[in-house]
Amino acid sequence: MRRVLVTGASRGIGRAVALAFAGRGDKVAVHYASRRQDAEQTLALLPGDGHALVAGDLGDPRAAGRIVEEAVGALGGVDVLVNNAAVAPAADTRHAVAEVSYADWQRVWHRMIDVNLLGAANLTYGVARHLIGRGAPGSVVNIGSRGAFRGEPEFPAYGASKAALHAFGQSMAVALAPHRIAVTSVAPGFVATERQAAKMDGPTGDALREQSPFGRVGTPQEVAAAVLYLSSPEAAWSSGTVLDLNGASYLRT
Ligand code: NAP
Repeated sequence: MRRVLVTGASRGIGRAVALAFAGRGDKVAVHYASRRQDAEQTLALLPGDGHALVAGDLGDPRAAGRIVEEAVGALGGVDVLVNNAAVAPAADTRHAVAEVSYADWQRVWHRMIDVNLLGAANLTYGVARHLIGRGAPGSVVNIGSRGAFRGEPEFPAYGASKAALHAFGQSMAVALAPHRIAVTSVAPGFVATERQAAKMDGPTGDALREQSPFGRVGTPQEVAAAVLYLSSPEAAWSSGTVLDLNGASYLRT
C-alpha cells in the first residue's frame, strides 16, 4: 500500500488516476480547486478506505505547501505525487497571438505558468522534502502534453507550460535519484474527458479521431495505466522519461 497525492482529481484524468491507485489498494488524497461536489464524487467512487479530500488553488504557493501538509496528515505520509492539475485550453484561456488583447495575453500566460508549472514545482518541493526527511523512496509523475512538442498555436502558454513541466521533471529526476525518488512525465494527445466532450461530439469530432491512425482518441484510463506503471518501483529505471501517449498521432524524433 502506498499513499498517493493526485492533484486535479475532481474529474477527468485525475479522477481516473485516483481510481486506478485505489483499485490496487493504495490510499489517495483527492485534490481539487473549486469543484468540491465532483471531488466528493471521486472520493465516493474510490474502493477501500482511508482516502481524503484536499483543496486549494495551485497558483498560490502557500496553498501548495498546505496541500502537501494536509495530504501527509490525512494519509499518514505521501509516497507518490501525481501532478495532474492544470489550467487547460478552454474558451476563456484561448490567447491566439493575432487576436488577443495584450492584457488577456499576459493574464493567461501568468495563470498557466503559475498553476501548470510553478504549482507542480512547489508540490514537488514539498513531497520531495517530505520523502527525503523520511529517508523513503517515492515517485513523482507529471501529466504533460503532446502540445509541448507539436505546438499549441491558440494556447501557446499551455504548450510552453507543458514543455517546461517535462524539462522540470527531467531536472528533478537527476536531482532526486540519489534519494531513490523517480520522476517521470507522460505526454498525452487528445483524451476523452468531460472537458473535451463538446469537441468530441461536435463537428470537430471526426478530425480529432483521425489524428491517430487508430481512428480514435485516448481514454483517461489509458493515461492512468501509464501513471500506475511509471510510479511503480519496477519503473524506477524509467526515471527522467517523457512517455508519449498519443496513439501514434505525433511522432517525436
Ligand atoms: P480537467 O477536466 O480540466 O481537470 C483539471 C483539474 O485540474 C480539475 O480537477 C481542476 O480542479 C484542477 N485545477 C484546475 N485549475 C486549478 C488550480 N488553479 N489549482 C488547482 N487545481 C486546479 O482536465 P483533464 O482534461 O482531465 O486534464 C488533466 C491533465 O491532463 C491536465 O494536466 C491536462 O493539461 C492534461 N492533458 C489533458 C489532455 C486532454 O485531452 N484531456 C491532453 C493532454 C494533457 P477543479 O475541477 O476543482 O477546478
